[in-house]
Parts: sequence; structure tokens; C-alpha cells
Amino acid sequence: MAVDATQPYDDQNVFAKILRGEIPNRTVYEDDFALAFHDINPQAPTHVLVIPKGAYVCWDDFSAKASEAEIAGFVRAVGKVARDLGLVAPGYRLLANTGTDSHQEVPHLHVHLFAGQPLGPMLVR
Ligand code: AMP
Repeated sequence: MAVDATQPYDDQNVFAKILRGEIPNRTVYEDDFALAFHDINPQAPTHVLVIPKGAYVCWDDFSAKASEAEIAGFVRAVGKVARDLGLVAPGYRLLANTGTDSHQEVPHLHVHLFAGQPLGPMLVR
């Protein structure tokens, strides 16, 4: 079921469990502000999720409530992951589903990083 972007944070969501080490993940990168790991159901040859370590439901929640340090740390982590994976020259796509119409499924902010092939049109037509 799609996430209501206005709901309070649910600390039983799957990414909260990953952050607490209760569920395994294939980590790509970790620092004080972010964790990056491979998506369990990849939609491209490279499909990595980058999540902030703080408890934020979605982009709206994060952009409104996170500290400057959390926002800077998270944005820099997304860029670093792509850079470290060698994706800048071939190119990559970032996507952050937010709320019902986007079909956000997990109520902890995550940025999808897709790469590894020409990625086609931005949206299904
Ligand atoms: P979204 O629809 O934007 O909320 O995307 C949620 C993403 O989380 C999907 O691409 C799922 O494949 C991915 N996902 C769900 N559970 C896990 C998990 N345990 N480990 C890695 N990725 C997951």
C-alpha cells in the first residue's frame, strides 16, 4: 500500500529495521548521515537506495525538519555513492517517491539511484 506522506514516522518500517541491524542489507556506503544499499528487487543493472539515518518519512518531512548538517550530509552521500560507483561519466538517475501518487512503499525517505544502461523516458507513458 502506498505511503501517506503526511503520516507520522513508523519505526517498524523495513528501512528502520535495516538501520537498527535487524534486517540484513548489501551495504554500498555508510557514514554518520546516510546508508546506501542495493535494492532487493533491482529495476536497473545498478539500483542502490540511499537513506538518511534520521527518522524521516519522505522528502517533505526531511526537507522541512532535518538539520542543515543532516541535509548536507545526505545530499553529499548520494553524490559520493554515485561518484564512487563510477557513475558520473555514464550517467545515472535519482528518484525519490513521495506519497500516494508516486506509489512510495516504504515510509522512510529513500533516494533510488539507477544506472548501468540507458534509462529510457522519465515516466511511463
Ligand atoms: P518505493 O516504492 O520508492 O517506496 O521503493 C521501495 C523500494 O524498497 C523498492 O524498490 C523495494 O524493492 C525496496 N526494498 C524493500 N524492502 C527492501 C529490503 N529489505 N532491502 C532492500 N530493498 C528493499
